[in-house]
Amino acid sequence: MTRQDIFPPGALVSVLTTQPLDRFLDYKAPEGGCSVGDFVEVPLGPRRVLGVVWGPGQGGYDLAKVRPIFGRLDVAPMTEDMQTFLTRAGDYTLTPMHAMLSLATRAPGLGHSESRRKVYRLGHGEPDRMTDARARVLDAMEDFGGAALTQSEIAQAAGVSGSVIKGLVKQGVLEETETPRDLPYPVLDPARPGKPLTGDQADAAARLSVGLAEADYGTTLLQGVTGSGKTEVYLEAVAACLKAGRQALVLLPEIALTAEFLTRVEERFGARPAEWHSGITQTERRRCWKMVGQGGAQLVVGARSALFLPFRDLGLIVVDEEHDTSYKQEDGAIYSARDMAVLRAAICGARVVLASATPSLESWVNAETGKYDKLVLTARYGAAVLPEMAAIDMRAEDLAPSTWLSPSLRQAVQARLAAGEQALLFLNRRGYAPVTLCRACGQQIGCEHCDARMVEHRFQKRLICHQCGESRPLPDACPSCKVEGKLAAVGPGVERVAEEAIAAFPEARVAVLSSDLYGSARALKEQIGAIAAGEADVIIGTQLVAKGHNFPLLTLVGVIDADLGLQGSDLRAAERTFQLIRQVAGRAGRADRPGQALLQTFQPEHPVIKAILSGADESFWRAEAAERRALSMPPFGRMAGIVISGPDLAQVFDLGNALARQNGPLAAIGAELYGPAPAPIARIRGRHRVRLLVKAARSAPLQAAVAQWAGQFPLRGDLRLRIDIDPQSF
Ligand code: ADP
Ligand code: ZN
Repeated sequence: MTRQDIFPPGALVSVLTTQPLDRFLDYKAPEGGCSVGDFVEVPLGPRRVLGVVWGPGQGGYDLAKVRPIFGRLDVAPMTEDMQTFLTRAGDYTLTPMHAMLSLATRAPGLGHSESRRKVYRLGHGEPDRMTDARARVLDAMEDFGGAALTQSEIAQAAGVSGSVIKGLVKQGVLEETETPRDLPYPVLDPARPGKPLTGDQADAAARLSVGLAEADYGTTLLQGVTGSGKTEVYLEAVAACLKAGRQALVLLPEIALTAEFLTRVEERFGARPAEWHSGITQTERRRCWKMVGQGGAQLVVGARSALFLPFRDLGLIVVDEEHDTSYKQEDGAIYSARDMAVLRAAICGARVVLASATPSLESWVNAETGKYDKLVLTARYGAAVLPEMAAIDMRAEDLAPSTWLSPSLRQAVQARLAAGEQALLFLNRRGYAPVTLCRACGQQIGCEHCDARMVEHRFQKRLICHQCGESRPLPDACPSCKVEGKLAAVGPGVERVAEEAIAAFPEARVAVLSSDLYGSARALKEQIGAIAAGEADVIIGTQLVAKGHNFPLLTLVGVIDADLGLQGSDLRAAERTFQLIRQVAGRAGRADRPGQALLQTFQPEHPVIKAILSGADESFWRAEAAERRALSMPPFGRMAGIVISGPDLAQVFDLGNALARQNGPLAAIGAELYGPAPAPIARIRGRHRVRLLVKAARSAPLQAAVAQWAGQFPLRGDLRLRIDIDPQSF
């Protein structure tokens, strides 16, 4: 990648740094000169900071005061495509450029100042005796799959002191080395044959593989029912991309899914690809970043932030389970990884595959209008058939108070257990009970910092706020009236359903799958593996189980409260409920035994429930699309959400009202403004929050108008204002 613009030593260049400044800074090119795209270290006040040479300097000031760049970093320069991507993604999401660069440099030790560190691997020695602390170290080493870890990484992961590590080194259980040079990943062999595909799969794979060598942008929605072989199909496109000598990226919505996927890649291509998510070590993180930049990584499997890795020649981006809400990054830079994948691909001439059984309405509409290609897989692979769907009308069921398993559902579970199969009971609520009520004074226990209830987690014997994470021991007495022994759990969470299931099916092995019950990613992975291997009979799970897992023995899915997501005023409620229930039902009967999904509902005639039951997916999307079109809501109109927050409610509302009055820039583009109103969660961590929503026509220049409008007033004191383009809820 030779870039044209070579600046001789002393020439003025403009540098973008990761420091929160609203402008680029001029520096003098260092000894040896520099080029556009070079990663550099520059002086900023007394500090050394990371930056990228962005272009020629601006000048117009006392040149004698301009300081020279310290030096260039020994990493591949940023490509022009990446510069364009960061600029356009920043413009689209209204994120400042320094924050965009931070997203693109999330790897430690890129600077010169990084000294070589000692790292440790498992050696061949045996410990003279095994202590708890030593066992935890060995567990932690295994957790990271044999990667070399620094002392502090081990100490943190295992909760041990340096002396434990030293002891293990002495006995040869751990081996100490210098930081290895970042090594390329093992070579993947795309010529290895995959599984023989069915006719439909082969057609889809062939169409996905077109144009992968040509740097030709295109997005395809791969819509296939759960278990239809979407993964097998897009792995063919990955193979075609690798054969063309280009890099590929597969995004997954959930770290817990990566383990199974890595194994599939290894089976298919003979080696494991690079991994990028919050569960990898700093050492691996740096290796991945550097190797992606140097072309030493052909395929990356990762979370949404992998989109900002420095690919040299990206040919394919797969967004698996593209409808998943976790693709939306909500802290710091607010972006949708799905949409940014399309943007990045359009810039670098790559193909995008959006895979889902239940696409987002946005993608479905884009496929309808021809903006995206569409490939459909209608049948499950092999003998597997789609689960039969039925409602359990809760109005006709006879339930004891504070129980949630209807007689019909219990019977169905019993029948599966008798046949040696598994049943999954799904409830999208963590903890034991959503409400803890004092029967003496009638107060519900709330979080002191948030507009949210404290949720009882009985396994941990604590009350936890799901907004801010605040947790405290379950009290005996009501915090308001101080009366003891009157606190009551109201409503069900997964732990409570598990309690009921244990009582109802005393012979069965009951497992709970909820993110907060597992201390580490590995523990969760093990539990998922155990379930897949048949070590549980009844599984109680939150939305964690709805995502992509393969449980071959699972034949019954019972949805405890199918109506749960349908309340509230969010226009996306129908879409989300439809996706979630379809996905979780799709866990049933993925192998050779036919499956069934039973939905407990008080409103079996609700259009969403009826659509799910009838399997009329296309007409559901069509009806949803028609409704959104009638209201000019996304994807037919565009929206921006503005959340103002601060410790003082009056100040927060004052700013919201002031913005609402001075809506000139919005009126100029014909946009409508709603609010200010309390945000869906009106207070988090002691900060009050109000929201304004802007709605504009598709063609209107929304970002420019919103930026101008929202920037009219300086933010005083502790006030904050966040702009969310294309908000998830409206
Ligand atoms: P999806 O991603 O659509 O849910 P998968 O690709 O995970 O579907 O396929 C579901 C199951 O069927 C997996 O266990 C997969 O290995 C298997 N499968 C799909 N297609 C084939 C095929 N052509 N040959 C063998 N097994 C297949
Ligand atoms: Zn809280």
